[in-house]
Amino acid sequence: MDRCIIDEVLLPESIIQKRVKELGEQISRDYGGQEVRAVGILRGAFIFMSDLVRNISVPLSVDFMAISSYTEGRDSGGVVRILKDLDKPITNKHVLIVEDIVDTGLTLHHLKEVLMIREPASLKVCALLDKKERRLIHDLQVEYTGFEIPNRFVVGYGLDYAEKYRNYPFIFVLKPEFYQSL
Ligand code: 5GP
Repeated sequence: MDRCIIDEVLLPESIIQKRVKELGEQISRDYGGQEVRAVGILRGAFIFMSDLVRNISVPLSVDFMAISSYTEGRDSGGVVRILKDLDKPITNKHVLIVEDIVDTGLTLHHLKEVLMIREPASLKVCALLDKKERRLIHDLQVEYTGFEIPNRFVVGYGLDYAEKYRNYPFIFVLKPEFYQSL
C-alpha cells in the first residue's frame, strides 16, 4: 500500500476491528434471537458489512442496495438515487441498515422513508462513522455508531475517493494534493 498518499490515519485497523466486534455483540444481544435482515449500502459499506455480520450471532440474512448521493468527487450533488434495489421483500422483517458514514443525514433519512413504506417489523441503522457536526437532519435516529469523527473527508475500509482507496484496511485522510489531482 502506498503510504505516501496518507495525511493522517484516523482509525487504525486494530481499533476498527475491536469496535466492529463490539457492535456485532451489542446487536446480537439487542435482537435477542430474532432474525435480522442486514441491508448493506453499496458500495461504501461492503467491507464493514462483511466484518460486522461475522460478529453477529443471531439468525441473519443479507441484502444490498446501491444508492448514489455523491457525485464522482467530494461534494454532494444533493440527489439521492436508488441504483440497485433490494432483491427480497422486507415486509415483517427486522431490518438493519448497514451504512459506512452518516454525514448530513440526508441519504439515510431518504432511505429510511423508502424502506418504511415496505412495512418492516422494525428498522434500525448501524453506521460505522458519524460526522455529527455536519448533520442537517437533527432527529435522525442511528441506533448503532462505530465512531464519531471530525468533519474531514475520509477514505479506506470500503470508503472511496473517486472509486479508489476502498481496499485499505484502515481509515485515513488523503494528502490534499490527491484530492486536487482530479
Ligand atoms: P449524507 O447524505 O449523510 O450527507 O452522506 C452520506 C454519504 O456520503 C455516505 O454514505 C458516503 O457515501 C458519503 N460520504 C460522506 N462523508 C464522506 C467521507 O468523509 N468520505 C467518503 N468516502 N464518503 C463520504
